[in-house]
Amino acid sequence: MSRINGFIGRRSFLKLSGLVGGSLMWNMQPTLASEANLNPVNSDEALKRLIDGNNRFLRQKRLYPDQSIRRIHSVSQAQHPFVSVLGCADSRVPVEIIFDEGIGDIFDVRVAGNVASDTAIGSLEYATAILGSQLIVVLGHKRCGAVAEALLDETAPGKISMLVDKIKPAVKDIKSKIQNDSDDAVIANIHYQIAKLHENSIILPELQDKGKLKIVGARYDIDSGKVFIVT
Ligand SMILES: [Zn+2]
Repeated sequence: MSRINGFIGRRSFLKLSGLVGGSLMWNMQPTLASEANLNPVNSDEALKRLIDGNNRFLRQKRLYPDQSIRRIHSVSQAQHPFVSVLGCADSRVPVEIIFDEGIGDIFDVRVAGNVASDTAIGSLEYATAILGSQLIVVLGHKRCGAVAEALLDETAPGKISMLVDKIKPAVKDIKSKIQNDSDDAVIANIHYQIAKLHENSIILPELQDKGKLKIVGARYDIDSGKVFIVT
């Protein structure tokens, strides 16, 4: 098997994930995750670990786990992140810091507006089906600029518009009733992007059906540092 920085070759990907004939057949081949991950973290444990980490961050009692040279070496050949986060690229929402985690713990997929694009979905499929994460958190945040842009009746310049267009449907039914910094729009976008994960992926719903994955939505409050579960 060819591996580069924890990634595996395409042939191994298909074989190990049981992707045969366009469907997942988990019983045909063991997954890389079940072969190599000796300490898998289930979705409930993963969510508790995140909430505990955010509470440490809030109380300024951070442990700064998994940030040593030893940790770098221990995950250099393979990664088994216990959670995947589809979060906004906003500089005020650094995922490892707000959850007090370290290297190899969180598979971060960050894009403005936490948009579930095809490339984001591909990354999340890799993190779950191959690397073994059993929890995806779609993490929106208070006062998200991308969501605020989607509330405007304007076309954003350049490729920003492509991004904003993927948020506009999430807020079209409520935008006439709310302010452009409304948490309602942020929460609507979290729900919408989760729905896109279900609609546009074959792998993620199958993992959910098999009890190997949960997807939850959460909102980060950039005023307080607290993460709220919204789904
Ligand atoms: Zn944002």
